Amino acid sequence: MNPLPRLVPPAAVDTRETAALRAEVRQFLAEQLAAGTFVPAVDSWLSSWDEEFTAALAARGWLGMTAPTEYGGRGATAIERFVVAEELLAAGAPVAAHWIADRQIVPSLLKYGTGAQKDEFLPRIVAGECFFGIGMSEPDSGSDLASVRTRAVPVDGGWSLTGTKVWTSGAHHAHAFIVLARTAPVDPAHRHEGLSQFIVRLDGPGVEVRPIISMNGRHHFNEVILDNVFVPDTMVFGEIGDGWQQVTSELAFERSGPERLLSTFVLLPAVVDAAVAQQVAAGSQIGRLVARISGLHQMSSAVAGALARHDAADVPAAVVKVIGTSTEGDIAEFAALHTGDDTAIDPALTDLVTTALDQRPGFTLRGGTNEVLRGVIARGLGLR
Ligand SMILES: Cc1cc2nc3c(=O)[nH]c(=O)nc-3n(C[C@H](O)[C@H](O)[C@H](O)COP(=O)(O)OP(=O)(O)OC[C@H]3O[C@@H](n4cnc5c(N)ncnc54)[C@H](O)[C@@H]3O)c2cc1C
Repeated sequence: MNPLPRLVPPAAVDTRETAALRAEVRQFLAEQLAAGTFVPAVDSWLSSWDEEFTAALAARGWLGMTAPTEYGGRGATAIERFVVAEELLAAGAPVAAHWIADRQIVPSLLKYGTGAQKDEFLPRIVAGECFFGIGMSEPDSGSDLASVRTRAVPVDGGWSLTGTKVWTSGAHHAHAFIVLARTAPVDPAHRHEGLSQFIVRLDGPGVEVRPIISMNGRHHFNEVILDNVFVPDTMVFGEIGDGWQQVTSELAFERSGPERLLSTFVLLPAVVDAAVAQQVAAGSQIGRLVARISGLHQMSSAVAGALARHDAADVPAAVVKVIGTSTEGDIAEFAALHTGDDTAIDPALTDLVTTALDQRPGFTLRGGTNEVLRGVIARGLGLR
């Protein structure tokens, strides 16, 4: 029996409504570009933090779109959110400020948040006024997340958290992050038990955010030290002891979206223009890249549909991430090959290409490395 059909849910195609929404976002982006509000960037969902632009999106109802109207959202479908996200990324728009909150905190709050947590955070996320980070990785825990050593011990009225988180994107700007911590000692036979999640304010007492500067001088991630940080019971996220199951369901949102294929997309049309201007024959390479992006668009939107139906999507999400992030890197290399040291090339394009090459190693690491995800896919196919 061929197990492949299980891997890819049916693709979602634009309806009249989503096509109209797509056109609306494109129109907005064209106006913003004409007004010089932003300069297209590569990897803009991680690196381009622009709270004014986020506020402009919020004013159009394009943040936290899937949140119910009682929280200020539109009660939109995951596919409508997908369309908006895809257009913003394809344009290289500055979306880093709200990206994590919009992508995974909104659906996680809707699934696991208490009424008070939803009331506190959802309206502010939708308004573009509250930004989140992810507190999973630690200095000795990345792929093997169950080995996290940050501890949470019960104290009067809440929990006291101590430990170190690392590679925390945007923690120097964000208001809060969701921390995965150990609330019970490790049971070697059941390592995934005894983990819990907490909403932790990044400006609270005992929290220190230390910058980690990348080799190209940029600052997007951090080390976050938690030293006896008090977290009230009201900020326990989900159930104590259910952290692993909650994190893995969050990861399907984190791994399958259009940001796993479009981080370098802005390079593609620019390099095509450059190749045409220089009369370089690169048609077949361009065709292959465009075909890959097109297929990935179908796969990624299909996973968005599956998540909206609450279908299990861990394995399809892993497939999207492995193929998508490899394609992003291949676009960066293709662009480098066709810009190189050519002095006729617009320096702005050369800068974009350099940044794409700098950021490339992170594409296949963040959100779970491709090596590890290949293991997830193999298990999903019953090959392990
Ligand atoms: C740009 C960027 C942003 C990030 N942002 C965040 C963030 O906001 N919050 C957060 O919590 N984390 C963040 N991360 C961390 C990211 O999730 C981890 O880097 C990732 O999970 C890998 O963990 P590690 O770096 O500890 O590598 P390790 O787990 O130590 O892996 C090292 C190498 O060994 C390989 N390997 C490990 N285990 C296996 C296995 N079982 N089979 C095959 N190969 C294996 C890996 O593929 C990798 O090549 C970010 C990372 C990057 C690059």
